Amino acid sequence: MERKVHVTPSGRTLVTLIPGDGIGPEVVSAARRVVEAAGAKIEWEERAAGASVFKQGIASGVPQDTIESIRKTRVVLKGPLETPVGFGEKSANVTLRKLFETYGNIRPVREFPGVRTPYSGRGVDLVVVRENVEDLYAGIEHMETPGVAQCLKLISRKGSEKIIRLGFEVALAEGRKRVHCATKANIMKLTEGMMKRTFESVAKEYPQIEAQHIIVDNCAHQLVKKPEQFEVIITTNMNGDILSDLTSALIGGLGFAPSANIGAEVAIFEAVHGSAPKYAGKNSINPTAVILSAVLMLRHVGEMAAAAAIEQGVLSSLEDGILTRDVVGDTGAASTTAFTDAVIQRLGRKPKHAKVRDYRPLNLPNVSSDPDFVKVSKRRVVGVDVFVESALPVERLGKSVEDLVKGSSVELKMVESRGTKIYPSTGAMTDTVDHYRCRLMQRAADGDLSEAQVLDVVTRVGAKHRWMHVEKLNEFDGAPGFTKAQGED
Ligand code: NAP
Repeated sequence: MERKVHVTPSGRTLVTLIPGDGIGPEVVSAARRVVEAAGAKIEWEERAAGASVFKQGIASGVPQDTIESIRKTRVVLKGPLETPVGFGEKSANVTLRKLFETYGNIRPVREFPGVRTPYSGRGVDLVVVRENVEDLYAGIEHMETPGVAQCLKLISRKGSEKIIRLGFEVALAEGRKRVHCATKANIMKLTEGMMKRTFESVAKEYPQIEAQHIIVDNCAHQLVKKPEQFEVIITTNMNGDILSDLTSALIGGLGFAPSANIGAEVAIFEAVHGSAPKYAGKNSINPTAVILSAVLMLRHVGEMAAAAAIEQGVLSSLEDGILTRDVVGDTGAASTTAFTDAVIQRLGRKPKHAKVRDYRPLNLPNVSSDPDFVKVSKRRVVGVDVFVESALPVERLGKSVEDLVKGSSVELKMVESRGTKIYPSTGAMTDTVDHYRCRLMQRAADGDLSEAQVLDVVTRVGAKHRWMHVEKLNEFDGAPGFTKAQGED
């Protein structure tokens, strides 16, 4: 898919530059100096976001002229933005990622020379490719009863295809041979399972790359035990959030962890770390993460030579023992500006030992934007789950619902509490709460419940019990679109 960038009349790529909060202006200025010294044809359009904007009373933390700039440039290099601590305010970072549908979060980590960690010498060099907009982080939450909260985990086939194709394309661009997909599909068969199934089907289009599924908890275990076995890990949003912080720690911490947020329209490059306010203005923090984020940005806009020169400059500086406070402590540490100067002096100097990959431009996946991405030829509603709030003993609740739906198009199949069937009793010793799911299946084996029949069921149950939500039980092309409760036959 063609890269969308804004090229100025003088032939430079325009980039929206957001200095950000806390240590942001220091590290972003370091990256800017290095990019300019490397001779990259970049022109900056500086814009604000974060704390200063919240203070002006703009609740999103992102003013309109920043949005307009990004709509024009399509490429952003940004510093960290503080999230105000208070009730109801949204993170300006999340706002930016969502506004521009940057669906893929790419977080590479590699072993750095001179940065001692328990993994030094093992050759850790991997990329986490995390889905960035779906999953539990869509933030759709409800209090179901006064004491029970719910968060919806939404995973789409389209979203899964985008991130999985991006992961394989990252592997190709970086000359990597193996891709893992980390999910919890063994438990969440429909949501996490969607990612796994999509991975298995898309992998067939990339026969040159070894594709392996791994259960995410084992992935965390293997990452600590033998991280060098991984090259690219594709994963869902929350899994990726956790795994990518773990992988940052393998190579020396947040000062060394860059990231790219990739969308079909816009790409946002930033360090993984936050605004580290206690270090603001002290000229002591490590600018490597933002400098390497700028390297990712340069590759994105096709400035491969400048990107390589900067990466070599960073590795050579580290090999020469120029290390910031986070690596060596206060004594003998290079300041932020001294480290930046060192990188500039060593631009394009090949490191003596550290390996540098050959990169090809990343081919952005081209996935259809159809909202109804998956089409079926046959569908029917085979039942309905009615969620009710009740303090009754489950035997009484079950019998009551059975009576209420007598003579209707459905019958009660079971009542469950937090995923475990408890009525009719299976002998489960469950500590119930006041949140139950009543599964009501249609009596006719091959019928299709109408809207009126579903409403009739809800009205009948609602006559005696407080319901808080209803889910239709769909069958798509003969396959059930719902899972069974623990203990349900
Ligand atoms: P943080 O700013 O990442 O800082 C946590 C710790 O990480 C620092 O105290 C420091 O460790 C280390 N660190 C971070 N950046 C470093 C660097 N460049 N060089 C060396 N060490 C570095 O996390 P936080 O304190 O949880 O968050 C602060 C603010 O940033 C919050 O408002 C948060 O919402 C925001 N945030 C923004 C983003 C973003 O914009 N993408 C991301 C994360 C957090 P030591 O204390 O051990 O020296």
